[in-house]
Amino acid sequence: MSKKAVFLDRDGTIIEDKGHLSSPGEVRFYQNTVEALMMLQANFELFIVTNQSGISNDIITMEDVENINSHILAHLEKSGIRIRDVFVCPHNREEGCDCIKPKPYFANLAATAYDISLKDSFSVGDHPHDMEFGINAGGSGLFVLTGHGSKHHDEINDKSLIFKDILEAAKYILESGKIKESHSHPQYLVQQP
Ligand SMILES: [Mg+2]
Ligand SMILES: [Zn+2]
Repeated sequence: MSKKAVFLDRDGTIIEDKGHLSSPGEVRFYQNTVEALMMLQANFELFIVTNQSGISNDIITMEDVENINSHILAHLEKSGIRIRDVFVCPHNREEGCDCIKPKPYFANLAATAYDISLKDSFSVGDHPHDMEFGINAGGSGLFVLTGHGSKHHDEINDKSLIFKDILEAAKYILESGKIKESHSHPQYLVQQP
């Protein structure tokens, strides 16, 4: 059976967004990131998908980004959390690449490489593009108000998909998974007294 995934944005979603991060020392996790990812990984494969246009714009290097990503993975691993893979788009939007969010390129790549069912998967992020990424992949997209989220709040049409932070989004994902399960087992409903 195919696995389900949560595609996490990096900056402003699991760590603070301080502009173009260039060294691991600048990484600050949100207080409840570990708790949220711990909950999610019981039922989902976790991926990080991040647009890092600073690479293309010569503000930071791919090596900077990889060092930071390694640091993030190591920190999460210490807490028992496994991120299956990290996908970085190093381009800026003007380049018209295939891999920049909201294009679902990396979701499709993950689906093929790790046997992921995209229709049962979610994306989470603090930019409308992060949300559209999951929807464009054929799944669901959630928006968080951390990072730049409060700035883009008005651009989100469906307010029911807006969450305070990664933990609130995680709770919603787990709940909506349960709802789907119960729909696929209608006999349980019939057996209710
Ligand atoms: Mg972000
Ligand atoms: Zn790209």
